[in-house]
Amino acid sequence: MPEPHPAAPAAAIADPRPSGPPDLRGVACTACGRVAFPAQDLGCERCGADGAALRPAALAGTGTVAAAAVVRRHDGPGIDAPFTALAIVLDDGPFVHALLDGDGGPAPGTRVEAVAAGTDGDGAIVEVRFAVSGDAAGGAA
Ligand SMILES: [Zn+2]
Repeated sequence: MPEPHPAAPAAAIADPRPSGPPDLRGVACTACGRVAFPAQDLGCERCGADGAALRPAALAGTGTVAAAAVVRRHDGPGIDAPFTALAIVLDDGPFVHALLDGDGGPAPGTRVEAVAAGTDGDGAIVEVRFAVSGDAAGGAA
């Protein structure tokens, strides 16, 4: 049986705020304005501009569920089921996939917000999940 790949070094993907969901570390393209998450320096996913055209952008950790799927069985090592995979449209634009912090399958249109689900030894947020928020459906902060 092959050995699992060693875990890649964790990198911070979000920054805590005094209150509310953490800010997500995204990037904005200076050539076309496209905003993306997570941050990367490979180049713009829309216009292909060189990675030097990308600037860090703090994105609100809030969004709306586009789709949800409850995974009841997973064969991956160390992955406990059930869990819920979400497709989310962030309020700042990017479409992301993330896990639900909680149970069940929220309906499309449900408001969600990021929660820190993992930190490194220095307290940097290296894993983010999304929880159902108290906002009214479709409302933006
Ligand atoms: Zn671009």
